[in-house]
Amino acid sequence: MRTFISFEEAKLIVLGESRVLESEKCQLSDALGRTLSLPIISSENLPPFASSAMDGFATQFTQQKGNDVDLGVWANQENESRPAPMSRFRIVEHVAAGAKPLVSIQPGTCARIMTGAVIPLGADTIIPREYAQEEDGWATFWAPYDLAGNREAGKHIRPAGEDVKVGDKVFPAGTVISPPVLGMLASLGFHSPAVIRKPLVGIITTGDEIVAPDHSPGPAQIRNSNGPGLRAQVLYEGGTCDAYDHAKDDPEDIRRAIQKNAGSDLLLLAGGVSVGDHDYVKSALEAMGFEPLFWKVKQRPGKPLLFGKLGPTLVLGLPGNPVSAAMCFAMYARPLIRRFLGRKPTEPLIKAFLTDEIPKVKDLYYFSRAVAFQEDTGVYSVSLKGAQGSNLYGSVARANCILHLPAGTDILPEGAEVFIERLPWGDLHLS
Ligand code: AMP
Ligand code: MG
Repeated sequence: MRTFISFEEAKLIVLGESRVLESEKCQLSDALGRTLSLPIISSENLPPFASSAMDGFATQFTQQKGNDVDLGVWANQENESRPAPMSRFRIVEHVAAGAKPLVSIQPGTCARIMTGAVIPLGADTIIPREYAQEEDGWATFWAPYDLAGNREAGKHIRPAGEDVKVGDKVFPAGTVISPPVLGMLASLGFHSPAVIRKPLVGIITTGDEIVAPDHSPGPAQIRNSNGPGLRAQVLYEGGTCDAYDHAKDDPEDIRRAIQKNAGSDLLLLAGGVSVGDHDYVKSALEAMGFEPLFWKVKQRPGKPLLFGKLGPTLVLGLPGNPVSAAMCFAMYARPLIRRFLGRKPTEPLIKAFLTDEIPKVKDLYYFSRAVAFQEDTGVYSVSLKGAQGSNLYGSVARANCILHLPAGTDILPEGAEVFIERLPWGDLHLS
């Protein structure tokens, strides 16, 4: 087992164990946020048929030879008054949305048509209702739809396949199903798309001092923040975790909890992973056939991080400090979950400038909870607002990004160029 390795090495080892999970079908109603495992290739046109974009009249523009009448002076669209030779068209049918037109349009005739209705055979243009007068089964069309204009042929017809054509690749595999993607899948009839299975993540918190959030802590107790916080992180990334488990600082209790979570793709244990008298996580795992891949990383926070495999389950032993647990989740567990889901494991880092000097231990890679904002010039400034102790969960809750300070530098002066990673929920445009 490797120990005291660099952050870069640790991350490589973790991602080296990752894989994209299998495909499964899911109901469209449950598909929001899932990842398509196969490309969506349409076997249909969208829209499926040519339809009217307006309530109006379907007519044959090119052959408009209606029954000419002189209706005197009309105002056209630009509000100029001019004599308009008009044509009268006999209304041969009323076509509502959802109805099939039965009569084909001949020169001199038209059909009254509603938005979304099928264009009758022979018609090539829709004259909106606002540009027509209707009387006794005849419609008279107003300029600029007169015969001289000839500018509006084909107007207000939504052609079949305008959006998607049969055979089009509409979405590639790997697309995350956003609300509009879901809407498109619905209109194309993909009611149970193939998606990547959600990783099942087990979470076990440990510690005799920990009580459930709905309990009042005794004099030496604290509420469990890692359980709910880590579960929320997993759900936020699209993983599954019905509930977290909690174990006492007792090898047998820890073993039972691990056993219960044996079917997980990823198991997160929080606490009890260091060298304290009551830190039993590593030995309990080892007694069950755990294959450790590394323990302890040259990083802050989260130095005692443990990683390995228990059968097919990847196991991350996170330090119990809520800040360390949250940061190690961000650095290792989030990229793993994203890989499981066939996504890019990390977001590109963004260049920023420090607002304050930061002292650091040269050998360690720091990932600090930070607040970044974009200046008017477009440049990002970043500061470590508030205290940074790894027990201070508030610093995680306030942060909008993680400040990466690689090993190799000690003091970083004010104004130093650094790199930040936006937290998935972080807004970098706040000041
Ligand atoms: P450990 O890694 O078990 O030594 O725990 C380190 C620190 O984190 C101790 O102060 C614990 O009380 C605290 N801690 C451990 N687990 C949790 C938890 N689930 N929720 C809140 N604090 C915790
Ligand atoms: Mg503990």
